Amino acid sequence: MHLGCILLGAPGSGKGTQAKILSENLNIPHISTGDILRKEVQEASSLGLKVQEIIASGKLVSDDLIIEIVKKRFQQSDVRAGYILDGFPRTVAQAESFESIIRGLHFPDPKVILLDVAEEALIDRLTGRLTCGSCGQVYHLTLNPPKKAGVCDLCGGSLESRKDDSRETVTNRLKVYEAETAPLISFYSSKGWLTRVGGEKALADINRQIEVRLKAG
Ligand code: AMP
Repeated sequence: MHLGCILLGAPGSGKGTQAKILSENLNIPHISTGDILRKEVQEASSLGLKVQEIIASGKLVSDDLIIEIVKKRFQQSDVRAGYILDGFPRTVAQAESFESIIRGLHFPDPKVILLDVAEEALIDRLTGRLTCGSCGQVYHLTLNPPKKAGVCDLCGGSLESRKDDSRETVTNRLKVYEAETAPLISFYSSKGWLTRVGGEKALADINRQIEVRLKAG
């Protein structure tokens, strides 16, 4: 069975955290365009050098560039089983291109999950977020601290704040979300693909609700 899922939601709504759990439970790849871009930045590739300032400022990378990345990723055979998209699409133009990518592959319609979180909670979550530089596990200074300060519980890697999680950039990212990405809510609702899930409950509850929706016909 093929299971295509798009996780939609503001920065800090928990897309990455839920995507990791879903990917493990359902055994389908987690595709995060943010992770792909950060890896390019870390490797200082020509793409990485091109996008690093855009990411640091909280703006969006151009649609053409992102669509190219996703097109390439969807040429890999693991997506035949399905995919969990996290951070893509982020504009209506990206959503339209994605639809033609999956039509070309004869994949069924994706299920879109909107993670709903109030704005104040988003700011708290993002400005206190810590990410493991080695395995990508996400923590929070107060809401979900690691056992030992600065050290990843899972792999012992060192924890760092993402550059774009500074208060100033966070405000900008939320504005960009409202202007560019929130229109996808009505775009996908009108297709009948979207389910809204409250994103402020316990992680396991959120996960359960998403899985019920994904497994329903
Ligand atoms: P994320 O990890 O999803 O929050 O993404 C971090 C940053 O990468 C964003 O603030 C954008 O600068 C860039 N980015 C990630 N995904 C996209 C996308 N689908 N379209 C445009 N820019 C993106």
